[in-house]
Amino acid sequence: SQRFIWPMAQFGQIINMYQRARASSERIFGLMDEPSRIAEDPDADDLVVTDGDVTYDDVSFGYDEEETIVEDISFDISGGETLALVGPTGAGKSTVLKLLLRMYDVNEGAIEIDGQDLRDVTIPSLRRHIGYVSQDTFLFYGTVEENITYGTFDADREDVVEAAKMAEAHEFIQNLPDGYETEVGERGVKLSGGQRQRISIARAILKDPDILVLDEATSDVDTETEMLIQRSIDELAEDRTTFAIAHRLSTIKDADQILVLEDGRVAERGTHEELLGNDDLYAHLWGVQAGEIDELPEEFIERARE
Ligand code: ADP
Repeated sequence: SQRFIWPMAQFGQIINMYQRARASSERIFGLMDEPSRIAEDPDADDLVVTDGDVTYDDVSFGYDEEETIVEDISFDISGGETLALVGPTGAGKSTVLKLLLRMYDVNEGAIEIDGQDLRDVTIPSLRRHIGYVSQDTFLFYGTVEENITYGTFDADREDVVEAAKMAEAHEFIQNLPDGYETEVGERGVKLSGGQRQRISIARAILKDPDILVLDEATSDVDTETEMLIQRSIDELAEDRTTFAIAHRLSTIKDADQILVLEDGRVAERGTHEELLGNDDLYAHLWGVQAGEIDELPEEFIERARE
């Protein structure tokens, strides 16, 4: 494992960092309040990512037995492609992606990465291959640099700064009291959602994962920064399998596949152009966001309430 190639002099510090990191690894995935009910198969092998193909085969899941939250979710996404999830709040978008990170096991169906069922691979190996970008990303108590290098064990300062620059984070980091040495997280300097998101982008750039999960920020940054962030996210998504939960449809209109979830089911699927042609929920959401229609017709709001 890579962390043993570090010089011994830094060992204590690394152990400390590692423990902190491990303690908060679930929070880093933004899923800390979700008790993990999964158990690793003693015969599990490490995940091997070759092409980055992901398959959901008739996946159903509920947080408890009474209620199915997502039902019969099926799709194939080829390595390097982008799949976007769109739909009303509570439709199950985050849940679908939590299953990919194996925060929970499916109740029915299967999820495979390059032909390997998630239940047959070790959980750390799975999560090593997935980068997660969100403004809810939890920062553990440690320096900005430690937060960016989390998940990557052989990065030096130069790499960190380069990643931060690409993530449009370098400037604000430099303006923190101790720059990259500034302690952040629970007891440290408080960062805004937009700043946390940029730290998580820098972390993902450094981690260079095969699979990227993007939970779009309900943005609290200015338009110019937002455009710059979007550009670095687009760059990051290029050439790797990407899952994106999007609220602003403009950010995902070039996705290879768009799934519209309603009440835990796939209500529509296709490319942006195909979905506009459907003249259903997606087309109307697009119409509202593009300013072509004033508001979502009542029938769609009713449908979301059901
Ligand atoms: P979306 O991302 O589309 O807004 P979610 O996947 O977050 O939807 O939520 C889908 C449904 O699952 C919602 O009804 C939500 O209340 C429920 N839910 C989400 N997380 C949990 C959880 N940890 N325990 C129980 N129910 C949950």
